[in-house]
Amino acid sequence: MTDKVEKSKKEWLDTLTPEQYRVTRQKGTERPFTGKYHDCKKDGVYVCVCCGTPLFHSDHKFDSGTGWPSFHSTVHEDNVGEEEDRTLWMKRTEVLCNKCDAHLGHVFPDGPEPTGLRYCINSAALNLDEKKDDTEEG
Ligand SMILES: [Zn+2]
Repeated sequence: MTDKVEKSKKEWLDTLTPEQYRVTRQKGTERPFTGKYHDCKKDGVYVCVCCGTPLFHSDHKFDSGTGWPSFHSTVHEDNVGEEEDRTLWMKRTEVLCNKCDAHLGHVFPDGPEPTGLRYCINSAALNLDEKKDDTEEG
């Protein structure tokens, strides 16, 4: 899990939309209720828009009412990094893709069971990899 994805600014600009670039590479935040996944109920795995690393699962998504996609767990803790963010007056914990250091959003300690965590993630940082079902088919 240490083979990091690193690209130049130009390479990122070539592969991402301006909004995706602003959010993931410049630690931006999309406006609430504008992202494509805040109200999404489809099944699948949300992967990093920059490098395709699986980050969150639709089973862990819940309606937080904030206007951003919210999850109480990650797909795999190794895939998601955390960093203290003191850019505003309050202390927040930034959430990053461990593979390419994309800014994803923030995690707050006011989520539902079983973790009590709320991963508040920008739609622009995610791609939904839709799956029919986890169970094997005949
Ligand atoms: Zn990534």
